[in-house]
Amino acid sequence: MRILVTGGCGYIGSHTAVELLNAGYEVVIVDNFYNSQPNVVDKIKTITQKDFAFYEEDCCDEKAMRKIFSEQKIDAVIHFAGYKAVGESVEKPLAYYRNNIDSTLVLLSVMKEFGCRKFVFSSSATVYGDPASLPIKEDFPLSTTNPYGTTKLFIERILTDIAYAEKDLSVALLRYFNPIGAHESALLGESPNDIPNNLMPYIMKVATKQLPILNIFGDDYDTPDGTGVRDYIHVVDLALGHIKALEKLEHETGVLIYNLGTGKGYSVLDLVKTCERVNHVEVPYQIVGRRPGDIAACYADPTKAKEELGWTAEKGIEEMCRDSYNFVIKNI
Ligand code: NAD
Ligand code: UDP
Repeated sequence: MRILVTGGCGYIGSHTAVELLNAGYEVVIVDNFYNSQPNVVDKIKTITQKDFAFYEEDCCDEKAMRKIFSEQKIDAVIHFAGYKAVGESVEKPLAYYRNNIDSTLVLLSVMKEFGCRKFVFSSSATVYGDPASLPIKEDFPLSTTNPYGTTKLFIERILTDIAYAEKDLSVALLRYFNPIGAHESALLGESPNDIPNNLMPYIMKVATKQLPILNIFGDDYDTPDGTGVRDYIHVVDLALGHIKALEKLEHETGVLIYNLGTGKGYSVLDLVKTCERVNHVEVPYQIVGRRPGDIAACYADPTKAKEELGWTAEKGIEEMCRDSYNFVIKNI
């Protein structure tokens, strides 16, 4: 089976490409390097000792996508390509709607033309907004608080409409919780160029003294220690979830929705303290005001993915903190 991995040089896409190749799938990657480096292609080949086709193209470019589909017999698409920074999406909503939605529409129409009928989409727990209760199940009400989240919600709805009309289409909507960690080789990981917005990359910049101090956004939430609680999941576990979803799509049509999380919530301070302990580093921090739009707590009920996909996250918070740090110190 040959899988087109869009955004396959990015953080989650590169780890998924590795696991696909390890599992015996053929892989074709398309990425325009908007948020990744060309050397990721060779790193994936080094880790897996396998070759694959790579295209430097924009997924919104229909002509370029047609060329890929005409040169490669694509059986399924995993669509990671997109913009993902919440704050930036508030500043540049047009760019977010264009890139995230256009790329999806282009892929779906080219897939139809070439008879490719399986699509796995990178959605996010952000589509649950501020959940009324925890843990979060897939049938909870959906809402968003920023343009990034709205692109994910709109795309989910677009895919649902298309799958309703095209009865042979199989779609998996995978709602990721908070991916952290890195490949054990330390060749792949998350390395934002600018000042990071997300917690783990920021902790890493402080742990390696590239930034002086972590700002913790609020310690007055209704959580055990007052800081925000999230469901952190190792990126390799998340990658493996895509393979289970592809296996499921072999035999199903319509839209399947799964939370990919561990089901465990950790606070900001839990993550800081675990990083300090397992990596023997210091992460100075100060408590500052809440970040607008943040919710107190968010963690998954991953039962559906366990029961229907046979997938559970295996790696614990210590391994996540260790792998994140190993990647960062080897790639400064
Ligand atoms: P990333 O930015 O590391 O990877 C995205 C990749 O897509 C990058 O390599 C980028 O160059 C590429 N890309 C962007 N637009 C493109 C386009 N038009 N054509 C071709 N390539 C393009 O992001 P990630 O963390 O790996 O996230 C992957 C997907 O998962 C995204 O859709 C993101 O919204 C979603 N997601 C991420 C998280 C997270 O916390 N990282 C959580 C939930 C959902
Ligand atoms: N957070 C923080 N300082 C930072 C970045 C994040 O205290 O510099 C907190 C944030 O308020 C939230 C948690 O860490 O409670 C996870 O934030 P992140 O942006 O990584 O993920 P998201 O909020 O999108 O789930």
